[in-house]
Amino acid sequence: MSQETIFTKIINRDIPADIIYEDELSIAFRDINPQAPFHALIIPKKAIATINDITEQDAPIVGHLYVVAAKIAKQQGFAEDGFRVVMNCNEHGGQTVYHIHLHMLAGKIMGWPPY
Ligand code: AMP
Repeated sequence: MSQETIFTKIINRDIPADIIYEDELSIAFRDINPQAPFHALIIPKKAIATINDITEQDAPIVGHLYVVAAKIAKQQGFAEDGFRVVMNCNEHGGQTVYHIHLHMLAGKIMGWPPY
């Protein structure tokens, strides 16, 4: 299942975003409504609606999002102190944009549990 969302518009530069990283498979940009001092979204260029729609073929793409998170953590200086990555799924998970994305939050000590 793939549907155009606002994130496709960001990938295609149809709407602006504060892009901090891009490669052939993915793009990362700052969240418009940050929940931490640093809050970015790392998304695949392939439009996959939810975690439920990830196929075996998509595994390298999804794994790549974590490689990008590690690169950004290093670049932004968060690797040592730590950070959180989270991907929400559907209504109970709190998903609002149906194009999978890894939230990357950093710059403060995170609470747990996350509700
Ligand atoms: P989720 O609720 O997990 O689907 O996360 C969607 C995230 O996208 C939220 O944190 C929003 O603040 C963020 N968001 C929505 N529209 C934009 C946009 N145009 N640019 C950057 N972030 C956005």
